[in-house]
Amino acid sequence: MYDARYSTRSHTSAQLGLDATGRTVTLAGWVARRRDHGGLIFIDLRDRAGLTQCVFDPADSGAAFALAEQVRPEWVVSLVGVVRPRPDDAVNAELATGEIEVLVSELTVLNRAKTPPFEIEDGIETDESVRMQWRYLDIRRPEVGRALELRSTITHAFRSALAERGFLEVETPVLTKSTPEGARDYIVPARLQPGRFYALPQSPQLFKQLLMVGGVERYYQIARCFRDEDLRADRQPEFTQVDIEMSFATQDDVMALAEDVLAEVMRAAGVEDFATPLARLTWHEAMDRFGSDRPDLRFGLELVDVSAVVADSGFKVFADVVAGGGVVKCINAKGGASLSRSRIDAVGEVAVEAGAAGMAWIVFGTDGEVRSPIAKFLGEPVIAALRAAAGACDGDLLVFGAGERAQTNEVLGVVRLALADELGIERAGLAPLWVVDFPQFVHDADTDGWTANHHPFTRPFDEDIDKLETDPGAVLSYSYDFVLNGLEVGGGTLRIHDADLQRRVLAVLGHDAAAAQEQFGFLLDALAYGAPPHGGIALGLDRLVMILAGATSIREVIAFPKTSSGVDLMTDAPTEVTTRQLADVHLRLS
Ligand code: ASP
Repeated sequence: MYDARYSTRSHTSAQLGLDATGRTVTLAGWVARRRDHGGLIFIDLRDRAGLTQCVFDPADSGAAFALAEQVRPEWVVSLVGVVRPRPDDAVNAELATGEIEVLVSELTVLNRAKTPPFEIEDGIETDESVRMQWRYLDIRRPEVGRALELRSTITHAFRSALAERGFLEVETPVLTKSTPEGARDYIVPARLQPGRFYALPQSPQLFKQLLMVGGVERYYQIARCFRDEDLRADRQPEFTQVDIEMSFATQDDVMALAEDVLAEVMRAAGVEDFATPLARLTWHEAMDRFGSDRPDLRFGLELVDVSAVVADSGFKVFADVVAGGGVVKCINAKGGASLSRSRIDAVGEVAVEAGAAGMAWIVFGTDGEVRSPIAKFLGEPVIAALRAAAGACDGDLLVFGAGERAQTNEVLGVVRLALADELGIERAGLAPLWVVDFPQFVHDADTDGWTANHHPFTRPFDEDIDKLETDPGAVLSYSYDFVLNGLEVGGGTLRIHDADLQRRVLAVLGHDAAAAQEQFGFLLDALAYGAPPHGGIALGLDRLVMILAGATSIREVIAFPKTSSGVDLMTDAPTEVTTRQLADVHLRLS
């Protein structure tokens, strides 16, 4: 409860309504606005919960009136006054305190403020870099404050939902040995161990597994994770996960726990319609139908395999692809006939950027006419068959991808999103799902080796274990991603709890026995001392809060975020250090 306890106030703006009429109150906060009106001065006083209109009347306010003439926006003041109903024509229905005002008798200036570099108000269009440089002023804006409040509500809901289910909150080290999660480590020189370095954790993965070996059985942590990645898109060098691990649990157990906890969190965040159990797609289905392992299910535009339809068509490009073992797929962009030629070309460019050689298309005009650069090669019967296969009618647009299956899926996955944008498809509400059964490994064309799809500790399907060495690409894993509105908001796996199996998987990943022992010896040892079957999940707190806050960037829901080049514009971090500091940690700059 945001109230006046433990403060110099008698009330906050969260506690002021008509029922306080006649009360003498002491308020404190920031001057949001000051207006001089026909002999009266009005100050809108801002606190965390909102605004309260305070009135200074020369007849009643005495010395406070003269002082009120001097105050400026963002000054910090406290005041004493009497609550009274506003005149009918001054009631503001938008404001929680809109039915009352406070007639001030005493005013104290607690601090002055320079004129802020931007208005402390919602909906400002100030450049983000300016807001980040003065982030503390930005946070003072109600919409940013609300995002932080939602974040706190959500974090608290996670904690109580997990604690209620017997999960122990355990902290794990930040100065640690690296756990490979596929990114570069941030490293920290160890002054007391010349030439040695700690790594900041990419996630607490190995520690949480070791807690299971330690018999903790149910663990969680609101964990900071650090990954030194190229910060394209909406990434941060440090981010927060709700990290969970449990013993003697199947994949279904972990997913059920996550669903129950998420349902409670959603309720706390005011989401009414989060129905469980959630939909599930296997990784293969997700790729085949949506071209993405994190499909946005708020709209259709599914991929349709039309290889059989075009295999014998006169269009050699398609026929050759099918003959060569590839696929031809299309998306029916409903209503897309209304897109201009240049908009279709723009989508084609998206396809090319995603790796396609080009993008064929067919428009079924509302006038019944067919327009397409490939119409003459396909011929009417094939076009009619494509129309039927894709469920198209007049007014629709078909766009095509052709080539190797995985790549074609991926290209069309990107095209699908671009089409949704072009068609102006409204993406409202929440579309959660699980994507399960990921391949254990991803082939790395550069090295012709295999890398872990999730991480090296993921347990392969029991029935695929004998393919580990012979056909790694065909091995599936006990794995599950929680996807919300086209974003991966969580991911987890069952873990390998058998030292020999862990060694085999590490070997496929290119760690020979000596290298495995050197890097993961402590884990391999632990697995040999009675490790229980276990698995877990990590939910991305920043992304979840972003979606629920209706924000478009995780920076909006992180109190002090960094720019996309990893800079904190407020503190200027990272900064240079002195030669002395470098010498202390046995480093010299090259
Ligand atoms: N450690 C994994 C990650 O950070 C999550 C997990 O497998 O629990 O993505």
